[in-house]
Amino acid sequence: MKLNEIANILGGKSDKDTTISQLLTDSRNLIKPEETLFFALKTAGNDGHKYIKELYDKGVRAFVVEDGFDTAPYPDATFWIVKDVLKALQEIAKDVRSKFANIPVIGITGSRGKTITKELLNQILIWHHKPICRSPRSFNSQIGVPLSIWEINANDNIAIFEAGISQPSEMAALEEMIKPTIGVFTNLTDEHQAAFDSLSQKAREKAKLFKDCKNVFCPDDPAIIQAIKAECPNARIHIVEGGLIELAENVAQFIDDSIIVRKRLRGTNLEKFVPRYDACETLKNCLIVYDCYTCDARSIKDALNYARRHANAERSLTLIVSKPDDDADLNQLVKDYHINRLITIGIDAKLGDSADCIYESYSSEQEFLEKRSISDFSNELIVIKGSPFNDLQAIKAALEEPRHETIMEVNLGAITHNFNYYRSLMPKSSGMVAMVKAAGYGVGAIELARTLQSQGAAYLAVAVVDEGAELRRAGITMPIIVMNPMSTNYQALFENKLEPSVFSLRELDLLLENASRLGIKDYPVHIKLDTGMHRLGFIETELDALIERLNSQDNVKVSSIFSHLATADCLDQDEYTMGQLNTFEDMSSRIMAGLNYPVKRHILNTAGMMRFPEYHYDMSRLGIGLYGVSPIEQDKDKLQVVARLTTTIISLKHWEPGATIGYGRRGKITKPSEIATIPIGYADGLDRHLGNGNAYVLINGVQCPIIGNICMDQCMVDVTTANAKIGDKVEIFGENAPVERLSDTLGTIPYEILTSISPRVKRIYFRE
Ligand SMILES: *Cc1c(COP(=O)(O)O)cnc(C)c1O
Repeated sequence: MKLNEIANILGGKSDKDTTISQLLTDSRNLIKPEETLFFALKTAGNDGHKYIKELYDKGVRAFVVEDGFDTAPYPDATFWIVKDVLKALQEIAKDVRSKFANIPVIGITGSRGKTITKELLNQILIWHHKPICRSPRSFNSQIGVPLSIWEINANDNIAIFEAGISQPSEMAALEEMIKPTIGVFTNLTDEHQAAFDSLSQKAREKAKLFKDCKNVFCPDDPAIIQAIKAECPNARIHIVEGGLIELAENVAQFIDDSIIVRKRLRGTNLEKFVPRYDACETLKNCLIVYDCYTCDARSIKDALNYARRHANAERSLTLIVSKPDDDADLNQLVKDYHINRLITIGIDAKLGDSADCIYESYSSEQEFLEKRSISDFSNELIVIKGSPFNDLQAIKAALEEPRHETIMEVNLGAITHNFNYYRSLMPKSSGMVAMVKAAGYGVGAIELARTLQSQGAAYLAVAVVDEGAELRRAGITMPIIVMNPMSTNYQALFENKLEPSVFSLRELDLLLENASRLGIKDYPVHIKLDTGMHRLGFIETELDALIERLNSQDNVKVSSIFSHLATADCLDQDEYTMGQLNTFEDMSSRIMAGLNYPVKRHILNTAGMMRFPEYHYDMSRLGIGLYGVSPIEQDKDKLQVVARLTTTIISLKHWEPGATIGYGRRGKITKPSEIATIPIGYADGLDRHLGNGNAYVLINGVQCPIIGNICMDQCMVDVTTANAKIGDKVEIFGENAPVERLSDTLGTIPYEILTSISPRVKRIYFRE
């Protein structure tokens, strides 16, 4: 679309002949600056206006901003200044949609399975009707839908969009953009019910998507059928028996009755149709990003966009791709994404004259595996893009370092969910400090920090300078507080722009001495008060000296004053907690009165946020809740599990009564038993007290007790009733085996279990 067409929609004029090919709402996805129109959206956690300078410096010249934004520093750019930036984005989507009056447009909604249904439908249709336009990943929101619609182009034969709502009245806006001609209602559950009065209200709200559809497909659920009848008087309702595959099949056959759903689709694990990226560090500084849902231009781009977020200057970009299902133009992708090395499996990309790219082609996975190994890759960001039927799993497995079978899987989507849940408990004006000390409570700080940075956390907090420096090396730019800076480390502290917590006059003096020696002025610090924890911090009698000292120098400047609650999670100690809260108010007010500039205050940890939210002050420090563990009984079901510790069975034997298992013969077999060995021991962080039947692991949904003593690197489990085989997955803790189960057995707290998992257990990140 040309800039002047955009001017026709948004008002104003543009005499520039620029073509806009990308609408951008997330600055990290920038590809072609000169062809980008950026929308400075304000969301719950972030404000797009913050990124305008960075984007302008990178060459973006077209922006949509809110009233009041100062455009003067950007003389070469075109600005649209509007009341509501989101609305402007949606207006453009409506215009784009209106130009495609003649193709079937499928709108999908429902409580669950929207993305899987969309991907299945795409996979079925793409064999006959490429090219197809569809929402990337699960772009189904007020922002995701317009971005999806923007992608339709003149060649597309069919478009498929999903629509998701969390509030009443949101669907109307989505309907006006999508204007589906065929509707699909996947199912109805009571998830995300909070904002709705009843299930039937939610069903009706969802059914509004199909207002003008002539045909709507849905399962045999009376609530859904009733809602469609009420909201879409003109629709013919097609009731489909079976699951999501049958739903997708019926819709596809309605569009083209010659379509037969291939057998191989029926046999496929539906999980493969969930866009999900595995990222895994390997030897020689490579990072592998893997996914295997439908292999088409759109999803290859998504994988590349995701991977780019993990890029660093040392790694060049490599794409390993199986035969695309559509006519994806690999040449163009190589250029747009600066791909340095392209490896195709099962096709010849006929790579044109993009001389900067190393090109290798293999007829099959087998051939690749014979000729290449991980030693042929170094300093590369390797994107492996398979498809459900050619998933390149063998290549992924070969390139990942031959690793310990035991892994901790970390769901960054759950981190985002939990972060936003806690944020929703606090007033909007109050910020969040995300505690990522102790390597993010054991789950790994770097990936977490990236996620939290993008979610708009105000600060990260680490325990020691080294942890902060590591985050800086990984490219984290947001403010970081160091809770326990060591007196020897000031150089590294300043160099990495880490903000120390100051807990004594002695520390303050050392800090001032070093800052003054290095000529540092106004360095931000955080004053820690001891209001009852009696660990670190200034006490009442030290305040006068502290204030005087702060006022007699200009090397540091107080950013915030804080304290820590000792008993926020002890329901029988509220009097003590109230004492701390009152002391904090008094002490911090005294310091504030003594300084001649404003400072922030914070005292709540996770339990504090849940129990004493009215003491939010300017920020809260979120720790354990972020990791999906509630410190108190309340609200456990509102959190999502973040970390899953799993391993696999590496050996399986049958034993008869009389046999004994492991060191000291502590495991006694009393009936014919199947005993499996799993490669996790106390050196991995599986506490030895969990042996001898004190804990179980989950295999095929069955609780299997640990038998005998736990060894250093292995332990044995009784799988007699689990129908287990070698290679089966074992969950030590995770969604189905809560970590609290282990901490309760050991008489400790979940914090200790999480932080005890040894660094040799590989952390694998994904987003769900
Ligand atoms: C660890 C820590 C927190 C977070 O506590 P949670 O109970 O995990 O929420 C907050 N403040 C300080 C000073 C901490 O050390």
